[in-house]
Amino acid sequence: MGKQEQERQDKYETIYRLLLEQYGQPEWRPHLPPVDELVSTILSQNTNDTNRDRAFERLQKRFSDWEAVLAAPEDEIVEAIRPAGLANQKAPRIHGALEQILEERGEISLDFLAEMPLNEAREWLTDIKGVGPKTAAIVLLFAFNRPVFPVDTHVHRVSRRLGLIADSLSAEKAHQALADLAEPDHYYSLHLNLIRHGREICTARKPKCERCFLSAHCRYYRENRTGDA
Ligand code: SF4
Repeated sequence: MGKQEQERQDKYETIYRLLLEQYGQPEWRPHLPPVDELVSTILSQNTNDTNRDRAFERLQKRFSDWEAVLAAPEDEIVEAIRPAGLANQKAPRIHGALEQILEERGEISLDFLAEMPLNEAREWLTDIKGVGPKTAAIVLLFAFNRPVFPVDTHVHRVSRRLGLIADSLSAEKAHQALADLAEPDHYYSLHLNLIRHGREICTARKPKCERCFLSAHCRYYRENRTGDA
């Protein structure tokens, strides 16, 4: 390992520990069945957890199973998922995903992904229209507990500011870079604690560097804020 990589690794270890000290070990939320996790993650795009959960509950209340969602007119799905926002985009995305799963597997189930080699499983999911690396990673980590590190907008922003990954690295490439940096056992808590830090302290527009417990280890702080915080 080169000097720069070693420094980054050391920084990661420190940041991981400080995040745990501050926010604790997040509890595993109950695993959703894989198709539910996929639909819930599609619903979560560009909205918060509360709206996602409301939309998911309405969808489950209105339709008895995923086959019923697939058979439903699109406007009924749109109506059910309205609380999640962008319902006109998300409804066809959900419908298309269910359709593709049924066509390729003969049933609406993703259970087979548990046994598939990780890269193949990731590719299988990202071949579904509207499913990107983040959604695929969330399904694999949360529904199957497989060692994949999901990068959402908060994780991407915070890890770049901290200097855990290069500033220029795309969210897509950050999945692998952060997976390489962290222990697989850390993925779940690191993912959730970085999101929490991004929501509460390292916000997109005005990061609250003056009250941030990571400032001593932060590249952005060193380069931009020393002196005024
Ligand atoms: Fe974000 Fe500022 Fe904390 Fe760095 S010091 S992690 S930029 S809030």
